[in-house]
Amino acid sequence: MAEAAQPVTMDTIVSLCRRRGFVFPSSEIYGGLGSTYDYGHYGVLTKNNIRSLWFRAMVQERDDIVALDSAIILNPSVWEASGHVAGFTDPLVDCRTCKLRFRADQLEQANCGRKPSKRPGETPDCDLTEPRQFNLMFETHVGALRDESSAAYLRPETAQGIFINFKNVSQLARRKPPFGIAQVGKSFRNEITPGNFLFRVREFEQMEMEFFVPPADATRWYEYWVEARLGWYRNLGLRESNLRVREHGEDERSHYSSATSDIEYRYPIGWQELEGVANRGEFDLTQHTQHSGTKLEWIDPDGNRYTPHVVEPAVSIERIFVALLCDAYHEEVVGDRERVVLRLHPKVAPVKAAILPLVPRDEGMATRARALYEDLRRHHVVEHDDSGQIGRRYRRQDEIGTPWAFTVDEQTLEDETVTVRDRDSLAQERLPIAGVRAWLDDALERDWSSPQSD
Ligand code: ATP
Repeated sequence: MAEAAQPVTMDTIVSLCRRRGFVFPSSEIYGGLGSTYDYGHYGVLTKNNIRSLWFRAMVQERDDIVALDSAIILNPSVWEASGHVAGFTDPLVDCRTCKLRFRADQLEQANCGRKPSKRPGETPDCDLTEPRQFNLMFETHVGALRDESSAAYLRPETAQGIFINFKNVSQLARRKPPFGIAQVGKSFRNEITPGNFLFRVREFEQMEMEFFVPPADATRWYEYWVEARLGWYRNLGLRESNLRVREHGEDERSHYSSATSDIEYRYPIGWQELEGVANRGEFDLTQHTQHSGTKLEWIDPDGNRYTPHVVEPAVSIERIFVALLCDAYHEEVVGDRERVVLRLHPKVAPVKAAILPLVPRDEGMATRARALYEDLRRHHVVEHDDSGQIGRRYRRQDEIGTPWAFTVDEQTLEDETVTVRDRDSLAQERLPIAGVRAWLDDALERDWSSPQSD
């Protein structure tokens, strides 16, 4: 059965991000650099929220996971041991006619350079080379000499920094398997065909957690993490109809993995991997033990030694960011006016509330609005906006997903109350100005589910 497509297009999301300063094409004044992006104010705030919600769920609210921040450039032997030097490759084909390059395993998603309506290889003019393996790691040099001995790599994933610190952390963190190490940081991949906005970029921020378990428990923990991560996305308000789990077939899995599942999101480009959860077995710790000569194993109190197995949930902030924006985007007509609204989970929304004096020239309103703003901003990211018609100010906030607006109006001058307007329902109620902070604290802690229809 044909799936209904996401109603929102990627172009719509790109243009909203551009218009409202979430994301800009990078190096724009120099003509850009393909598929590289810079984050503006609201983009930074949204990313910070995603990162801290992940950290809270994965580290802060658990007893069994600790944090790590390892270097981006590691000893190149790490990447020999991990298999990345030999095998972190994608199959590349060139078209001798249009001079474009494609991933041989993704030709069905690519467009022929001459006839964008066709797939590469589909027209009689297409002249594709045999696939050859292309390593995705970015190379650099460490120190003043640029020869083979100084070659190093920008990390293509954060996970290896965790494995090589297994001994340090397990000795000092007073944890025994099952326990995990979580890390957030930039990773770099020289993707052959980046694109679809932030979905596939060459520089991205990964959030990975390696969970070390007794071998006999690995399957149970793998199943646990697939469910736990899916639950995290549900709590963020991503709609059920846009989420699914797809288990990899044997031919798709890495040779060392006994099971891998993708948590997929229905992006405007179709169902795609949002997050991967893999049961990596003992491969990583064994490889680093062999290559480094340092035993990465667990010795239990009875003196039994074993190499823990690893279960890994791995995702990038970029893929979550795009999924959240696509899920939240909505256009509607209210009265006789169109509005664009981002129905983001309040915890994800870059700005939590707007404080709006109805008549900015009125000194009583202006003073009260300013005082409320200065009180609230010590606790939450809030905005004060006193320019333009009130309707336009509401719509500006709707477009960046601000869940609530507090409006100071004539009545405030009489009874010290303000109006709170709800972004999603547009309902308005009155609150004492003195109670606004407690109201907002409370509102941000409430469970939230998307009011968007499926
Ligand atoms: P894909 O098959 O889409 O290339 P992958 O299976 O190679 O992804 P992993 O190596 O499992 O990806 O990386 C873990 C996570 O990192 C992915 O689930 C995704 O969220 C994110 N990720 C990987 N590559 C990119 C990229 N180029 N841009 C943005 N995020 C990425």
